[in-house]
Amino acid sequence: MNIPASLRNLVFKRAQGRCEYCLHPQGASAYRHEPDHIIPVQHEGKTNADNLALACLRCNRYKGPNIGSIDWQTESLVPFFNPRTQSWQNHFQLESAFIRPLTPKGRVTVKILRINNPLRIEERQRLQAVGLYPEE
Ligand SMILES: [Zn+2]
Repeated sequence: MNIPASLRNLVFKRAQGRCEYCLHPQGASAYRHEPDHIIPVQHEGKTNADNLALACLRCNRYKGPNIGSIDWQTESLVPFFNPRTQSWQNHFQLESAFIRPLTPKGRVTVKILRINNPLRIEERQRLQAVGLYPEE
C-alpha cells in the first residue's frame, strides 16, 4: 500500500508518534510505526486521514485485514476500537502496564491485537521504569 508522504506525516504527527491502539511510543520501538487502515482496503476502506491510525508493527500485524471479532461476554459481533471516532479512555484503562478493556470494542481489540501478551506487558513495564510509557 503506497501512502503519500504527506499523509504519513499527518498520521504520525496527529498520534504524537504513539501507537493509537497500545500507546507504544515510536521512540522506544525498534520498528517503524505504520499508518493502519482502520477499515482495511480489502473491506473498501479508503486511504485517507479519516481511515488511518498510527499503529506499532505488532498491533498492525495482528490486526491484519480484520475489522472486529466476536465478544464472547455479549456473544455479539463487535467492530474494533476506532481511534478516529472514539476515545481511547472510554474503551481502555491503563493499569500499570496492563491495558484493561472497558467495553466490548475494547475487549475484541485487546484480544485480536494481542495487546496484553506477556512479552508486551514486560516491555511496557521496562518503558514505564524509565518514564517512556505514558500513564493515562
Ligand atoms: Zn500498538
